Amino acid sequence: MAIFLLIILATFQVTQGTSITGANTTPESPGGQRFNSVMGVDGALSILADAMAFVQLGFEYRSPDTPKKEIDTIHFTVDDMAGVAYAIGVEIHLSAQFVATFTGDLVFELRGVLYHEMTHIWQWFGKDGSRAPQGLIEGIADFMRLKAKLGVSTNGFVGSGSHWDEGYTVTALFLNYVNDLHPSFVAELNKKLYDGWSENYFQDLTGKSVDQLWSDYKQKFQ
Ligand SMILES: [Zn+2]
Repeated sequence: MAIFLLIILATFQVTQGTSITGANTTPESPGGQRFNSVMGVDGALSILADAMAFVQLGFEYRSPDTPKKEIDTIHFTVDDMAGVAYAIGVEIHLSAQFVATFTGDLVFELRGVLYHEMTHIWQWFGKDGSRAPQGLIEGIADFMRLKAKLGVSTNGFVGSGSHWDEGYTVTALFLNYVNDLHPSFVAELNKKLYDGWSENYFQDLTGKSVDQLWSDYKQKFQ
C-alpha cells in the first residue's frame, strides 16, 4: 500500500508541475472592480496557465539540454499600485490603477501583460556580476508576447530603435528578426543565460556579432 501510494504521488507531481494561485487584493478599488468584471482571478489563472505552457514550449523546456527552473507555485495578485505589472521571483503583480485607467481592449492587453510577466518567471537573467542587459530581458519577454500575437505591434515598428538592447518592442522585433534567420535562437540564448551573460552569445549562435546583426536588421527595414 505504501509503495502504491508513493507511485501515485510521484506521478501526481510530474503531471501537476507548477501550480498558480491568485488573489485580487483590492476588490473594492475602481481597478479591482473592473478587473473582476472583465476577467476575474479565475480568468487570469486560466490565461497564466496557457502562458506558462507557451513560454516553456518557447524556451524548449522539453529538451534535456535546457537548464530548467523548478517552481512549485507562482503567485498572482492584483494590487493597488502604480505602473502596469511586474514579476519578481515567483510572483506576478498587476496594477489595479493600470486596469482602472486603460483605454482600449483591456482583456487583450491584460493577456499580453500576463504573457510578458510569465516569461520573466521562466527566463534566465544571467548571473550576479554577469547579468543580461535589462533591455534584453524585457525584449525576450515581449518576444514571447509577440509570438503569442498578443499586442506587440509590428506595423511601422519593425526596424525602429537606435540600440539592439533598448528593450521591449524594439528588442523583441530585433530578436524576432534574428530568430527568423536562426530558428530557436531565443531559446538557445535563454539556455546560455543560465551561465551568465556575454554579447558573444550572438556570435556563437549566429556567426555574426550583435552589432553586425543589428546593422543588418536596420539596413533591411529602414
Ligand atoms: Zn518586463
